Amino acid sequence: MDERLLSPAVEASYFDGRTSRLYRVTLAVHDGVAQVRGEARRDSPLGELRVSERSQRALRKVTFPDGAYLEVRDLAGMTALLHTTGHSDSWVVRIQHSWRGALAAAAGTLALVGLGYVYVLPVAADWLARIMPPSMEHQLGQGVLALLDQRVFQPSRFSDQRMAELTARFRQLQPPTGGAPDWRLVFRHSRIGPNAFALPSGDIVLTDEMVRLLKDDEAVMGVLAHELGHLHQHHMTRRVIQGAVVTAGAAMLFGDVSSLLTTAPAALLDMKYSRDAEREADDYAIAMLRHNGIPLAHLAAVFEQFQKLEHEHGVQMNAYLSSHPATDERIAHVRAAMRQ
Ligand SMILES: [Zn+2]
Repeated sequence: MDERLLSPAVEASYFDGRTSRLYRVTLAVHDGVAQVRGEARRDSPLGELRVSERSQRALRKVTFPDGAYLEVRDLAGMTALLHTTGHSDSWVVRIQHSWRGALAAAAGTLALVGLGYVYVLPVAADWLARIMPPSMEHQLGQGVLALLDQRVFQPSRFSDQRMAELTARFRQLQPPTGGAPDWRLVFRHSRIGPNAFALPSGDIVLTDEMVRLLKDDEAVMGVLAHELGHLHQHHMTRRVIQGAVVTAGAAMLFGDVSSLLTTAPAALLDMKYSRDAEREADDYAIAMLRHNGIPLAHLAAVFEQFQKLEHEHGVQMNAYLSSHPATDERIAHVRAAMRQ
């Protein structure tokens, strides 16, 4: 008899898919039809069956269209059976291509996206931020400020004199080695409480509430120096580019470009930097205060004020605090710098 038509039989356990009863059977293939014999009996064309790859339990599962299945522990026998049927290509490989292949492809894509997100994106964003023309950064910053003015800001309640006083004090300070980018101080009254941040355009936004909270203009200088550090490193530009790339990527993956437009403003309002970026900005502030003979105790006092506010209201109460938690690590870092 043609061995392509009658395969050797392998022992198997048959489950009907409805009860947990195990039927001891043998599986053979005859002329393209799988034959189950023993405690259960059924015939089924090979084309209707699905054969799994080796599972973790080191068995192969043959599933029937109605959910019944066979478990085969005799792996060598099963391989021989598949081989002699001559159907191995059309039978197993097809299934590999359908679900196993798709799974592998999906896993591969995910791994690539993950790697890209962790390793490639920051480097690319860093590079783009450094070559981005100042006119574009300016536009970006202006756009964000206009948006925030619409949603959360009101004109500052400070007198022109008070604003000029703070601006003049910060203007007096020499930047640390490495220089400083162009900046402009922008005062706002806000519904979001104490806040300060630097926009890519060079606008450093300072809320009245931040000045009132700190009650010490030298401490305000410390906060502004920290923001100048963010600006110096193009942190917001980098962050916006990363956000835009991620959103654009998601839009392409899910085929919904409108999400790009709706999520962009939300992302800008919820801007958070990495711990490394915060450390860089803190180091810049420390260097700048030191360069100008301002005791670092003023900066340490800033963090202690934040910590007090956190204890009273919780970090989530305030956008600035949630992006700049006054961690013990941060305070310790300034204290260590004070001892140097
Ligand atoms: Zn910061």
